[in-house]
Amino acid sequence: MSAAFDVAIVGAGPAGSSAALHLARGGARVVLIEKQRLPRPKVCGGGLVARARKHLPAGIELPIERVCRTVEIRHGDLRFAVTESEPVVELAMRADLDARLAEAAARASADLRDGCEVTGIDRRDDAVVLATSRGEVRARHVIAADGVHSPLARLAGWNDALQAIPAIEAEVHVAPDTLGDRAENAVFDFGDAPSGYAWTFPKRAHLSAGVLSTERGRGGLRAELDRYLARLGLDHHACDARGWLIPTRPRAGGFTRGGVMLVGDAAGLADPVTAEGISLALWSGRLAAESMLANTGDASRAYERALAREILPELRVARALAHVLYRRPRITRALFERAGQPLARAMAEVVAGRTSYRALVRSPSNWLRLALAQPSRAAAAT
Ligand SMILES: Cc1cc2nc3c(=O)[nH]c(=O)nc-3n(C[C@H](O)[C@H](O)[C@H](O)COP(=O)(O)OP(=O)(O)OC[C@H]3O[C@@H](n4cnc5c(N)ncnc54)[C@H](O)[C@@H]3O)c2cc1C
Repeated sequence: MSAAFDVAIVGAGPAGSSAALHLARGGARVVLIEKQRLPRPKVCGGGLVARARKHLPAGIELPIERVCRTVEIRHGDLRFAVTESEPVVELAMRADLDARLAEAAARASADLRDGCEVTGIDRRDDAVVLATSRGEVRARHVIAADGVHSPLARLAGWNDALQAIPAIEAEVHVAPDTLGDRAENAVFDFGDAPSGYAWTFPKRAHLSAGVLSTERGRGGLRAELDRYLARLGLDHHACDARGWLIPTRPRAGGFTRGGVMLVGDAAGLADPVTAEGISLALWSGRLAAESMLANTGDASRAYERALAREILPELRVARALAHVLYRRPRITRALFERAGQPLARAMAEVVAGRTSYRALVRSPSNWLRLALAQPSRAAAAT
């Protein structure tokens, strides 16, 4: 029996919906399977960095609640702000963002099945057969976009555990006019989380506040978040805090096997410096889709090559930078004292997609700027 679909995509987060959108628009027969009913909640700050948009087809309207053209990096009394004419970070509620992307894929003709959990995988003849809570699905290829725990990767034979860091986020219900200088800007507070950072992102009716640590297995983030909220005077407001993991190291066991491709968090593709994963989810979803649409005969190899060309070298450099930035709080502080403003500017350029981590570290003028930078107590906005 021939496969009913060209591609079955498991998980309707940004990675799965990105792949579904590109494939459906390219004429493939696609089914997008999501275990929860959409819109579904997702633990996330909802910060969509500017480079993310590059990986979406044109004409998709996103449910953006607030646009930040200024991002600030703070470390105690040090403040470094970068202002751009274009948005640097856009803020959305993940439930709305993900539902919108999945709807766009469905409008482009993907068969969207939410409330449908994938529980098994098998190969029969020339097809991959998925067992789901609503019956079998047959497809020529499968994309696993089912998040950091990726049950499908385990079912398909990946035994390597993903390396992931902990993060906790709260949606704090607070009136916008009480937020002061946090009402407009995305703020990253490096002094409030040893070996990581804390953040506040303004949304329409509240603030997303969170803490992450780059130390795997680190506990006590709830207490750090409480201290952070207390410092900001936000501890008396109603909030709903939840923790989850962010995979900041790509899978060691490869990204394809037996007709299955891993994308987004399932592949371990989050940025080790910023810990943002939405743009990489959209990016890897697009690359997987394009590898299939190119019809070169071996889509899996094409996808592995695309990752090796575009994403993995970036993440390698980012991992080295994260090691320097987060390893010791005193080094982090010294880095900001010496070069906070150029660092903030460089980060804004990377997340805007105007430069890459690789280009940053290759540029001799950047090293010169770092070497010649004067220690500062604070820097003006640029
Ligand atoms: C506290 C916190 C804050 C964060 N803040 C940001 C931020 O501000 N900006 C940013 O860019 N990134 C942020 N991230 C990271 C970001 O949330 C992830 O990198 C991103 O969601 C990855 O997208 P994805 O599509 O790969 O996976 P997910 O968004 O996790 O989607 C996976 C989907 O698969 C579904 N699924 C799972 N198992 C099955 C199954 N068996 N059958 C069917 N469906 C299944 C799930 O229900 C889910 O909908 C944050 C993470 C955390 C933990």
